[in-house]
This record gives sequence, C-alpha cells and structure tokens, in this order.
Amino acid sequence: MENDLLDEVRQFGAAFVDTPIDVRVEVSDRVRVSVTVGDGTREFSCNAPQGDRTEVKRLIKRFAKHSLYTALSDISGVRLPWGSLTGIRPTKLAYAYLSEGGRADGIAEYLSRTFSVRSDRAEIVQRIIETQRRALPDDLTGAVDLYIHVPFCNGRCDYCSFPSADINAKGADRLLDGYTDALIKEIGIVKRYMSDRGLRILSVYIGGGTPSVLGEEDISRLLEAVDCRGAEFTFEAGRADSLTAGKIDVMKNGGVTRICVNPQSLNDATLARMGRRHTSADFYEAYSLAASAGLSINTDIIAGLDESAEDFERTADGIAALSPDNVTVHTLSRKRASLLADTDPYCPDIERMTEYAFRRFGDYEPYYLYRQKNMAGNLENVGFCKRGTECINNITVMEELVPVFACGAGSISKRISGGVIARYASPKDVGLYIAELDERTEKKLLFFDGA
Ligand code: SF4
Repeated sequence: MENDLLDEVRQFGAAFVDTPIDVRVEVSDRVRVSVTVGDGTREFSCNAPQGDRTEVKRLIKRFAKHSLYTALSDISGVRLPWGSLTGIRPTKLAYAYLSEGGRADGIAEYLSRTFSVRSDRAEIVQRIIETQRRALPDDLTGAVDLYIHVPFCNGRCDYCSFPSADINAKGADRLLDGYTDALIKEIGIVKRYMSDRGLRILSVYIGGGTPSVLGEEDISRLLEAVDCRGAEFTFEAGRADSLTAGKIDVMKNGGVTRICVNPQSLNDATLARMGRRHTSADFYEAYSLAASAGLSINTDIIAGLDESAEDFERTADGIAALSPDNVTVHTLSRKRASLLADTDPYCPDIERMTEYAFRRFGDYEPYYLYRQKNMAGNLENVGFCKRGTECINNITVMEELVPVFACGAGSISKRISGGVIARYASPKDVGLYIAELDERTEKKLLFFDGA
C-alpha cells in the first residue's frame, strides 16, 4: 500500500515534503486507520468490507488512501479536484458503481462521497457516462478496433514521450519506405485473421507519431490495405505542417471519416518554444483543407504549456470560433521520456485554464476522460464532442471495451476475455520491427488465440 499512499501525499506537491507522516491500518470487524502528520493524529474507521480476498484488500486500500487524503486536505486546507483518486480512471469507478446497482444520476454524488472528488469534476464524469452509454452501439459482440501506428514525426515536440523517429534524420527516408511495406504486410495478415474469425471492425485509428508525414502514395497504399469503408476511421495528422490538399484527397477517397489536426496552442511563440515546427497560420490552413473535404475534425489543445493563462484562453477562443466536431483539452503531463521531464511542473494558472476551456466548450458534451502521472495540477484530459460526433474509438479504447488489433512498431495489442485484459507489445525499434515482422505477427495472432 506504501506506493499508493505516497502517491496520495505527492498530490499535495511540496506541502508535506518535510513532514513525518505515519499511516497505520488495523482490520477486525472494522477497518481503523490512524494518520499521524507531524504531532497530530486523526482516526478514521468503517465497517470491514466483505467479498473475496482481492476485493477486500482493494477496498481497505481505498479507505486508507481516502483517510490519508482527508487528513492532509484538512491540515493544508487544500481540496484537490479529484480528491483521493490516483492511478485509476474515474470513469472505471463510475461503471463499477453502476454494475453494483448504482443509479446513473447518482454517479457524481457517489464520487464526491466516496473519494471526495470535487463536484465540478464528479459532474463531468456523470455526463461522460451518459454520453458514452448513448453513443456506444448496443451490441459489441465480435467487434474489434484496428490500430495502426506510424512512429515518425517532423521533429520532436518538447513534451512528447512517444518513441517516434524524426523524418529529417539521416537514413529516415529508407526506413520510412521499408516501414510502410512492412506495415501493409502486417495489416493484410491481421485482416485475414479477423475475417477468418468473423470479427467486425468497429473503428480504425491510424496514429503515431504523425502518420500524415507519409507521402501521398504511401498513404494511399496504406488505406488500400486497411480498406474499411463504413467503419469509423480516424487519421491523425497531428502536425499541421504535414498536411497537403493532395493528402487530404487521398484520405477522403480511402475511407477516412475523421481527422485530428492539432494546434496544441495558437500562440506562435509557444509553438516555437515547444519545438513544434509549424505556426498557427499553418494550423488554420490545414484545418480549412480538412473542413472543405467534409471530414469530421478533432483538435487537441494543451493547458499548462509555457505560456500565460491569457494565451491559453486565446487558443480556446480560436478553436471555439472554428467549431470543430471534437475538441480534446489536455493538461500538460511532464513525462519521464520527454524533454520537459526535469522542468518545474508547477503551473499556478492551470485550474483557471481548464475551467475556462470547460466553459468555452460548454455547448459540447464531454465524452471521454483520462488522467496521467505528473499532470499539471493533477488534473485530466477531457474529450468534448458535438452530440452525435463522438469518436467511438476513444471510448472503446479508454474504457477497454473491445479487443484492439494493433499493427506497427511500438504498437500495443489488447486482448479482452472474461473481463481480463492482456497486452502484446510490438518492438519499438523500427529496424527490429521490420526484421522480425513474420515471426512477431504470428506470435501476436497466437496471443489473440489465447495461446
Ligand atoms: S507530433 Fe505528437 S508524436 Fe510527434 S513529436 Fe509531437 S507530440 Fe510527439
């Protein structure tokens, strides 16, 4: 339990760094938790939970974490937006509550009561569950998602933690050609497997990296291999400098229905500071190309970049004026593998920024949410959509509802059987992925067979 309790203390930033904290848990017919912070001790207790051993342990841990959070919150006077929740998706808890007979309109109250989640966040979760339940198909039997990973980008953003190769690096051209060929081969094998077993593709997502760095011909070949007309089909074109009218035509003709064009910020100075090699003008141009082609558009923005709250608000205003179908509001996460790993995560205006965005996109429906480690203010990422334009892939992946057949270097496939989730990772190294393609693909399909 120690790591979970430490995560709880870390949520309060530097407030308790030099304070001795002792947490003791005793279990009999009641669970008693005593939390000593400095010289003062607070006691908490509840009835001992019932159920199997794993479930009992889980509930005791949850109570201990919540007791610690309550003590630290009382002492510091700080009420965190997500209360005692760390390391678990809030929507997962909401679904667990529903499966135990909870009412859909009682989710917010349940999260506030059990985990001290602040009412604004608890209500978002309740609204998300409502949207998801309305948007998801009734029957997910035999449904799978197909994910295709293209780990190449035009440069590297400072906050990025994904393994992606820079297309400007020496030898990248050759690697990229070999990669597209290997990917097409893998997609063919995986699609045959799915067809032999009568699986139906619910959604396709081509992500990365920045898949739109591929040339028109490669995109065309890739889409031909996927050939999934009728399914929701997203193509990530994260960096505006990678899009052209020709590529958008190819996407449209190849069955793509949805595209992500992500400015992250509309402030050119911020973009330059973050190592993004495009300007806000590039973004507007790419956006207008995608909009003229009639594609459903998602735009990502990030709160907590090295810029002022006013800069962020101008970005939110600019995006709202475009009125895309989907907007994802991220909170900056300083991941260990990124160039920002050792920078100061404190962002005094982070709550002001996210609250502004939530208000600005108040006409949209929140439809998925996740939290990551080291996020500014311990906040969250929230996807907003206009009603009826939810990205089903974002919901099924976030809520782990259907298996994911993932192709490409560094991609992670997911098998779901009897509520148990298992993962299969392909090698991150592009050269190794190409060299071992046959053997690894065979292993992956055996993995899906449960072997
Ligand atoms: S575009 Fe995306 S994947 Fe590429 S470097 Fe930037 S954050 Fe990373």
